[in-house]
Amino acid sequence: MRSFSYERATSPGAAAAAAAGTANAKFIAGGTNLLDLMKLEIETPAHLIDVNGLALDRIEETAEGGLRIGALVRNTDLAADARVRRDYGVLSRALLAGASGQLRNKATTAGNLLQRTRCPYFYDTNLPCNKRKPGSGCAAIGGFSRQHAVVGASEACIATHPSDMAVAMRALDAVIETVRPDGGTRSIPIADLHRLPGDNPEIETVLQPGELITAVALPKPVGGTQAYRKVRDRASYAFALVSVAAIVQPDGTGRVALGGVAHKPWRIEAAEAELPRGVKAVAARLFADAKSTRDNAYKLPLAERTLAAVLREART
Ligand SMILES: Cc1cc2nc3c(=O)[nH]c(=O)nc-3n(C[C@H](O)[C@H](O)[C@H](O)COP(=O)(O)OP(=O)(O)OC[C@H]3O[C@@H](n4cnc5c(N)ncnc54)[C@H](O)[C@@H]3O)c2cc1C
Ligand code: SF4
Repeated sequence: MRSFSYERATSPGAAAAAAAGTANAKFIAGGTNLLDLMKLEIETPAHLIDVNGLALDRIEETAEGGLRIGALVRNTDLAADARVRRDYGVLSRALLAGASGQLRNKATTAGNLLQRTRCPYFYDTNLPCNKRKPGSGCAAIGGFSRQHAVVGASEACIATHPSDMAVAMRALDAVIETVRPDGGTRSIPIADLHRLPGDNPEIETVLQPGELITAVALPKPVGGTQAYRKVRDRASYAFALVSVAAIVQPDGTGRVALGGVAHKPWRIEAAEAELPRGVKAVAARLFADAKSTRDNAYKLPLAERTLAAVLREART
């Protein structure tokens, strides 16, 4: 690990200003992703700004009838919150499908959203990776791509986003709240937070340098039956090959978002209009532009079958 300097942030605005004003600075929250990447020298920040002392660890009700989740709320606490379990069951289930109890105790809401891909070539510093080293190439394209994206990928990168929580938040239309280095704040719909890789897979979100996530707002509950199913290589401690978050209303309408298939949580609202016509019609819209490899073509039928199973579960 490279040496780095360290400070504890005293306010969100000061943290953002310090991050923008210090060369090669990064925020650290639970550290469960960042520290691993630093040990492998995939991330080499010269300065860490520890945000754990900020008062961003509460879950509060909003005036609109929703919930505001502080950026530092731990995944365990979010999954266990009685309001989340009652009104946002898909979120609680997605969180509990992620990582392990020990990791969830440390992992924060903001850190989970911003965790980096699990593409094995991203972790292997001997091989080219446009995300790790822009312009170096992509070892996954033409390599072993069993875990990789089947939709929304590019010639530069076919990695997937690994978060379970973000998939449920996408189904719930969460909004990300931030503070910028100049002290200004903004709200970013989760649909717009993560980018597709395009020619710059190293740029993963629309956050500006130094911009700090302060909270995630959930709109007022939409009801319905909520389910999350994650298909993975083993029952725990593994990332999704495919996952489905679904919210189904009694009249058969609903929302679906998928994980493990793209560089961001994958939801196409127009596909949801096909729900009354059946799973095949929904999947056809979700994957209209799919481009799979020999190794990951299995994800397309797997996603359709998982979607069918989740919808069946939600309707019974
Ligand atoms: C073995 C293992 C298995 C795992 N399995 C799963 C799984 O199955 N599903 C899943 O979803 N996840 C899984 N994870 C990932 C885990 O959920 C993430 O590591 C965790 O959520 C990251 O949160 P953190 O607070 O530790 O982030 P950190 O490691 O502290 O930070 C991650 C990134 O977020 C940035 N950041 C942190 N807070 C802020 C903020 N407030 N504003 C702006 N930027 C910020 C940091 O600078 C850094 O770039 C696994 C991790 C491990 C190690
Ligand atoms: S898929 Fe993306 S993360 Fe993986 S090697 Fe290619 S560029 Fe790197």
